[in-house]
Amino acid sequence: MENNTKNADLHTHSLISDGQLSVGLLIKEAQKNNVKYLSITDHENTYQTKEYQNLSKYYNIELKFIPGIEISTKYMDEEIHILGYYNLNTINEIENIAKPIREIKKSRIMKIIEILKELDIFIPNYLTKNIKKTYNRVNIARFIYSNSNFENIEKVFKTYFDNNSKLKLEIEYPQTEEIITKLNSIGCFTGIAHPSFLKDKDKFEYLKYFTKVGIKGVEVFHPLIDKNLSTKIIEFCQENNLTILGGSDFHGYDTKRKEIGKYNTFSHSAEYIINYIKKV
Ligand SMILES: [Zn+2]
Repeated sequence: MENNTKNADLHTHSLISDGQLSVGLLIKEAQKNNVKYLSITDHENTYQTKEYQNLSKYYNIELKFIPGIEISTKYMDEEIHILGYYNLNTINEIENIAKPIREIKKSRIMKIIEILKELDIFIPNYLTKNIKKTYNRVNIARFIYSNSNFENIEKVFKTYFDNNSKLKLEIEYPQTEEIITKLNSIGCFTGIAHPSFLKDKDKFEYLKYFTKVGIKGVEVFHPLIDKNLSTKIIEFCQENNLTILGGSDFHGYDTKRKEIGKYNTFSHSAEYIINYIKKV
């Protein structure tokens, strides 16, 4: 039964992309919340893994760390986020896939900062000086939130970045199939993040298609997936031999995704992934 314990938080974000906590603090909080397997899946980045490697030289980190990443892609007219868990030996290849998308995101952020200036909102330069970081709109929203009276970061996001805003600025993300195939070819374990974000009419059609393309898992446990949908996706995973993924998608205590270790998946899922990426 031990193997069925839900103690694997396989989807979190640190300061390296749009999270609120450093890698060290995130690990500390995860351990405090009894997480035994942790993946820090910062957007289009691998520095969180390097930071973990450094920390592990000096501190006794008890949980099992699974190197991970989240990559934004596009299929039809929808943005699809791919979770990838990888072997440390392939970190340079992962970085090569991530870097171009990181650059696109950064140039969008620079444009957003310019438009905000016209609205008399000045984002300080130091926020964009760290070359290791992935810049997401959440970073900008967090700054505005901390200097205003908005209720939470999501409200800021809605006000400035929703569909009708001139700050929306669409990005041309790579095709979903291309990223799944590239990641699979270097032995990465790939899965679909938060399928609840997909339009209802497309959801299972898309999942079927991505299964054909080669994904190995689907995120079932997540703060923004309701029980009914989780149950359906679990069935889908069982029918298609896919691994049940899950995680808090932690971004910060100032967001709605703020509970590390609350949306864990099973330890056997984590062990399966660890064994899968070992084969590289
Ligand atoms: Zn995420």
